[in-house]
Amino acid sequence: KRGTRWGLSIYLSIYLSLSEPLDIPGGDRQSPIDIVVRKSVFDPQLRPLKVQYDPRTCQQIWNNGYSFLVEYDDTTDKSTLKGGPLEDQFRLCQFHFHWGENNAWGSEHSIDRRLYPAELHLVHWNSDKYSLFEEAVIEENGLAVIAVFLKIGKRHEGLQKLVDALPAVRHKDSVVEFTKFDPACLLPEKIDDYWTYAGSLTTPPLTEAVTWIVMKQHIEVSHDQVGGRYLCENFVFLKHVHDSTTVNTNYQ
Ligand SMILES: [Zn+2]
Repeated sequence: KRGTRWGLSIYLSIYLSLSEPLDIPGGDRQSPIDIVVRKSVFDPQLRPLKVQYDPRTCQQIWNNGYSFLVEYDDTTDKSTLKGGPLEDQFRLCQFHFHWGENNAWGSEHSIDRRLYPAELHLVHWNSDKYSLFEEAVIEENGLAVIAVFLKIGKRHEGLQKLVDALPAVRHKDSVVEFTKFDPACLLPEKIDDYWTYAGSLTTPPLTEAVTWIVMKQHIEVSHDQVGGRYLCENFVFLKHVHDSTTVNTNYQ
C-alpha cells in the first residue's frame, strides 16, 4: 500500500554556503526550518519516488573538517533518484548527518517545532540538466535532497558498518575507503510518505536550487551506535557543505 504524499505550499529561503560553515554547535545557531503539518497541502500531482542505488558506487568517507561525507561515484547514472516531485533524474553524490550535542536536538528540519536528535541528508544533483555537482548547485533545479529523521531506539543493522568505519576518519581531512554501502538501508519503510518543498538560494539570482524531500517516517538507531565516542564527536563538531540556514520563512 502506498502512503499519502504531501506537498508543502510554503516557500523557504535557504542560504547555501559552499565555502564556510555558518554556525558552530552551541554557537549562534539560526532557527531551524520548520514544517507546519496543518499547513501542508496534499498534492495529487506527486508521484512515487524512484530510488535506485547501486552499492558499488560507494567509494569513501571523507572528513572535510565540518562533517564526514560518505561519497558516491557520480560519473554515471548508477545511483539515482527520480519521480516524486522531480521532473528530472538526479544522481546521488554523498550523504551525511546532522547531529546535536545531545539527543534533544540536532535535526535541521523540525516538524511543528519539534526537533529530532539527528537528520540524514542524501544529496543528489540533476544529471539530466547538468554535468557536474558544482554546476548543478548554483543552477535552477540543481539539487534534490532526501532528509530522514533519526530517533534513538532499536539498533540499526545497516548503520553499523558506517559506525565501525568512523574511527578511521576522526581527524580532519582524513579519507578512508568505504565500499558496497547501500544507502537505501537508511531510508524508512514508507518512502512515499514525504513532505516536499522548494528551497531557494537567498543570494541572487534566487534560483530554486534545492528540492527537499523530507521523509515522514523516521528511522531508529540505538544509543549504543550514536553514543560511541567517535560517532558522537564527529556528529557534534562537524558541519558540511550545504549547511542551510533559514533566513526568511514565508508561510502562505
Ligand atoms: Zn545536510
